[in-house]
Amino acid sequence: MATLIHCLRVVPKVKNTNTEPFVSLFSKRVSRLAIVASFSSSTMSYDKELAAANKAASLAARLCQKVQKELLQSDVQSKSDKSPVTVADYGSQALVSFVLENELSSESFSLVAEEDSGDLRKESGQETLQRITKLVNDTLLSDGSFSVSSLTTEDVLRAIDRGKSEGGSHGRHWVLDPIDGTKGFLRGDQYAIALGLLDEGKVVLGVLACPNLPLVSISGDSQHSSHDEVGCLFFAKVGAGTYMQSLDGSSPKKVHVSTTENPEEASLFESFEAAHSLHDLSSSITKKLGVKAPPVRIDSQAKYGALSRGDGAIYLRFPHKGYREKIWDHAAGCIVVTEAGGVVTDAAGNPLDFSQGRYLDLDTGIIVTNQKLMPSLLKAVRESLDEKNSSL
Ligand code: AMP
Ligand code: MG
Repeated sequence: MATLIHCLRVVPKVKNTNTEPFVSLFSKRVSRLAIVASFSSSTMSYDKELAAANKAASLAARLCQKVQKELLQSDVQSKSDKSPVTVADYGSQALVSFVLENELSSESFSLVAEEDSGDLRKESGQETLQRITKLVNDTLLSDGSFSVSSLTTEDVLRAIDRGKSEGGSHGRHWVLDPIDGTKGFLRGDQYAIALGLLDEGKVVLGVLACPNLPLVSISGDSQHSSHDEVGCLFFAKVGAGTYMQSLDGSSPKKVHVSTTENPEEASLFESFEAAHSLHDLSSSITKKLGVKAPPVRIDSQAKYGALSRGDGAIYLRFPHKGYREKIWDHAAGCIVVTEAGGVVTDAAGNPLDFSQGRYLDLDTGIIVTNQKLMPSLLKAVRESLDEKNSSL
């Protein structure tokens, strides 16, 4: 199989020495596929994959930050133009796809991602494609660990189209939202690069790069100012907990969800956009529970990251009727919270099932909190949903 790496004539300067320990126990003649088949996800280390995912998401964050900075400095007219987010979206996907393949050189590389290159292959997309290619090349060069003899526009299109996988319950699939929270990105607010790995239908690692999230708590009662340092990288691996570091590369710290049992101390996180989640319904639920603080409304899976370090204790998401949730909007966030001790379910209390392809097949709504608050939260959700349905 001609891999993208060969097409791109790329030689990594730094070899990743962090190989899965179990691989060395076996003869090289044993095929990688056979090894993968003989180990369940709970016994895999995924160290190499996590290192590659952290690198990919951090570089994509660098690319997005550059575009958002230029966007915020531009005049009012170009701010209403949606093209910056298009460029950053495609650029982030191309970069993550390229870095994963380059770092892991796996033949069975599968990526489920939001974008495809259809529009960029049209005549009208050529200028945008040139901009994306330059951004991707500049970002790779700025890292210093790649000797890239410059990706061509065709290389970039191919990297983007790696994201067409359908996912599913067998094998490994990377799951990517190249910019989660595009509305927040355009406003200059929160957004995230969200990357997860499914193995046999289960999320086994997740990384959230949140370039605008303060390193200190953003819960309703905490004091933070516009001078606070921003840029967080959350990462989690099955059975190994969740860690946070700054995107600039501080040493990682283990994080844990809030342990409060008292709803009066529990603040709620929800979508900034009312079109993405029913704010009235979450307000009715938190009122029943006795939550005192006003809701914290921010865009993207930065909400999962914030919850994983205990900024708030509850995240509720109730999309309007008919909306189907995509796996890339929750895979990374879900493991970041669960490995930090939290629980993520649908409105009926069932765990999220990432094995059904590109969409999540679930009962209305997503509920996130700690183990202690979950029973009373689920009860309040049920009561509020019953009231809503009986008033229709
Ligand atoms: P958030 O910032 O948490 O509201 O979530 C952002 C994500 O919401 C985007 O990445 C979209 O995939 C997703 N989204 C888009 N439209 C809708 C909608 N109508 N309802 C719920 N989620 C949506
Ligand atoms: Mg998204």
